[in-house]
Amino acid sequence: MAQQSLDECIQDYVLKNDLGTILCRYCEDVIGTLPTNNVKVMYMVCSKVECQCREQLDSIIMEEERTA
Ligand SMILES: [Zn+2]
Repeated sequence: MAQQSLDECIQDYVLKNDLGTILCRYCEDVIGTLPTNNVKVMYMVCSKVECQCREQLDSIIMEEERTA
């Protein structure tokens, strides 16, 4: 069986199902799908503790950059 990259798998799935895919911006896990007319990928944060922590750290860093 040929190895398929994650990107190819997702694109294949999205094309077949006419759905947008929501990926975790940190670990790139598929969080879910949403119906859409255009093929697109959205980035959000999944429920893993490590990703939630990174999200919190990022938001603290952004906050500091804004007030600096
Ligand atoms: Zn994640």
